[in-house]
Amino acid sequence: MKVTNTKIYDTVKEVVGEDSLKVVEFLRDKKNISDFKIAEKVKADIHEIRNILYRLYNHNLVTYYRKKDRQKGWYISYWTFNKKRIKDIMKNLHYSKMEKFAERLKHEEANKGNMYLCPSACVRVNFEKATDFGFKCPECGSILNLQDNSKTIEFLQGQIKELYRTNGFSKMGNGFKMGNGLGNGHSMVLNGNGHSIGNGHKVVKKSK
Ligand SMILES: [Zn+2]
Repeated sequence: MKVTNTKIYDTVKEVVGEDSLKVVEFLRDKKNISDFKIAEKVKADIHEIRNILYRLYNHNLVTYYRKKDRQKGWYISYWTFNKKRIKDIMKNLHYSKMEKFAERLKHEEANKGNMYLCPSACVRVNFEKATDFGFKCPECGSILNLQDNSKTIEFLQGQIKELYRTNGFSKMGNGFKMGNGLGNGHSMVLNGNGHSIGNGHKVVKKSK
């Protein structure tokens, strides 16, 4: 797999945050650049730049060394972008998405045709929880409606299939977005600790 710039930016954005992109864009093809220089070049405050650099460092996306500046008498850190790390992070993201979707699917299939939704979408719960709530939304008091979750199941199956298909990460970054199509903005109730996706298949973690 070729690590394109788009893949670099998508991955960094997802794990470190969009504000770090300016630093990565600047640092991408360079080596040992001081934080002062980075701040100057991307026109940002040195404190903001250091914050971003340490966040990148937490994900091993940059390396640095410190050197005492003879004239100024203080230490300056010099930073290098660690492009090799991108592939590993992409893999981790890929598998954690697979696991999350598989868990959601397992939950949806276990409660097929038996999910309850507040008309204002405050909550979405299974039959057991709905009974606990007396079929009334604990947030707004509306009567919970029975919801056909077959579309959600289809959606999740499609996502998982797509994730399997893109095991080579060919579509990383533009294919799947978490949470889309799962209903109308309500958060899913997760349960389950296995990763069976409901039809006998197991999500197998490939070791590199
Ligand atoms: Zn409600």
